[in-house]
Amino acid sequence: MRSQRCARLQLLVMWLVTAASTAEQRKTYDGHRVYDVAVANRSQASQIRQLVDDGGFELWDDKGGSSGWLQVQVGPDDVPRLESALNTSEVPFRLRIADVQSIIDSQQSENEAHRAGGRAKDLLRDGSGNSSSRAMRKLNAFPGFGTNADNRRGRLDSGSDRDGAELETNSIYDEEDDDSDIDGFNLGAYHRFSDIEALLRRLPTRFPDHITLHVIGRTHEGRPLYLVRLREDVSAPATKPVMWIDCGVHAREWISPAICLYTIGRLLAGDQGWLTKYDWHLVPVMNPDGYEYSHTHDRLWRKNRRPVNYCTGVDLNRNFAARWGTFGVTFLECGLTFPGYRPFSELESRAVRDAVLRDRRRIAAFNSIHSYGQLWLLPYGYSWFASKDIGRQRRVGRAATRAMRAVNGVPYRYGISSRVLYLDSGTSTDWAYRAGVRHSVAIEARDKGFYGFLLPPRLILPTAREVWAGLAQQARMLAR
Ligand SMILES: [Zn+2]
Repeated sequence: MRSQRCARLQLLVMWLVTAASTAEQRKTYDGHRVYDVAVANRSQASQIRQLVDDGGFELWDDKGGSSGWLQVQVGPDDVPRLESALNTSEVPFRLRIADVQSIIDSQQSENEAHRAGGRAKDLLRDGSGNSSSRAMRKLNAFPGFGTNADNRRGRLDSGSDRDGAELETNSIYDEEDDDSDIDGFNLGAYHRFSDIEALLRRLPTRFPDHITLHVIGRTHEGRPLYLVRLREDVSAPATKPVMWIDCGVHAREWISPAICLYTIGRLLAGDQGWLTKYDWHLVPVMNPDGYEYSHTHDRLWRKNRRPVNYCTGVDLNRNFAARWGTFGVTFLECGLTFPGYRPFSELESRAVRDAVLRDRRRIAAFNSIHSYGQLWLLPYGYSWFASKDIGRQRRVGRAATRAMRAVNGVPYRYGISSRVLYLDSGTSTDWAYRAGVRHSVAIEARDKGFYGFLLPPRLILPTAREVWAGLAQQARMLAR
């Protein structure tokens, strides 16, 4: 009895210590600011990059300067140093976020409200317990295969800078379209990995004809890397072309896994025959260790969580074998874009490599979803040169970004990745293209730096609809 009590006490103490250290370790961004710094051209961009690197400041965005501004984050003590450096360089700048932590907090509290809202909605549903059926029947927003949904007269997106606005007007979705859940899982909120995992694990039993779930690897912390396969008939031989979509490569880009889950919902809707032409392979969370860490310890964490000598984490989107380690990386282990010490040193990038190579001949398109910047990026990132398939890639990119804009009026640009100011090397999309996938695209979802990585939950569904419109348009064009 006594020993039992002792053991319980010990457990309680251990729990308290763990809880306390977790709370202690949570990184806060009180007083951290984000500045918009104007960049007119590539040389100015590299000048700012240098300034940021030398000063120990942090470049905030994923694919910088898409709207003519770079976002630079700075801690409270370094504000005067950054401002004076920018003044000396005579670069125009403006304050974007005065207190990063307050934006993190408001995203968090809005997310709690959205999640609670989703639960309340579930309770109100009829007793069937299957809330998905209605969602699955709905959504006739996109015409089926073989028709061209483009607004052909639509102006080519010039990337006009409307980044300050939230832009939810002119939606082609009406209130009746319920695309906001899969099987009661609220698609309009950000979720912890365990919740996403629970959804993924029950999908094959809910939709046994169409979905199989595969573990394609495990992370350093032991989390499974899931690949969801959506097919017209899982018992038929797998011969159809494959649309590949991976999400959550970078931990802090929370909108990305949300987009993958939304996409699964749209594919299950069934009314467009998406599964008759293609098999769809999705990796909803490619970096679950980092994703969880961004929930529990550091909201702005980007890399995975494997310890490397003095620091932790490798930038997975610099770890692929595509001119690895040459451009857009730092070999400082603590840096945001540390590519590891060799290509495919990471479990996550290896898992994606092997899954892609297994189906290489069938993969019609490889899409990797990131944020932010509102961009449709084509190979190469590591070279100013265009690939030999650039003509067709551009045609698809033009139509896809038009379709994305048509959803809510939010502009997306398309183009060669390196020409959006920076070269970067070791990216999954460059690697996939070189591995033989002709259409390899990195999609940067909303926004253009207004909230950046801290996109409010109310913008999840509008953003996911836009990205889905682009992917659907790509699928239509490649099916011809
Ligand atoms: Zn990213």
